Amino acid sequence: MKVLLVDDSVTMRRIQKTQIQGLGINDIVEAGDGEEAYRKLQENMPIDLIMLDWNMPVMDGLTFLKKVRADNSFKNVKVIMCTSESEKTRVVEALKSGANNYLVKPFTPDALKEKLGI
Ligand SMILES: [Mg+2]
Repeated sequence: MKVLLVDDSVTMRRIQKTQIQGLGINDIVEAGDGEEAYRKLQENMPIDLIMLDWNMPVMDGLTFLKKVRADNSFKNVKVIMCTSESEKTRVVEALKSGANNYLVKPFTPDALKEKLGI
């Protein structure tokens, strides 16, 4: 399984990366904003899963998500929105825009495992 980890916080990426690796997934590509993420997605297909932050400079997570879902070649890529806010309205918006699931940061390895279904 190959994961694209998108977050503008280097610290948050480090924490999440450790947790993903803890599940035995070591093929991880990182990006710091939506624009970089889109480039890396194109360069590193097949990507199985995108762990996506909301608030980022240049291009935010929701804009990136809509762009990914507008392209049929990425239709099999799962997207999990990673939010630090538990506002359900935003989660609903992300799910309507094509996110497969969401996690509230900081999440535990167990929560991640459950959402990945592994
Ligand atoms: Mg952020």
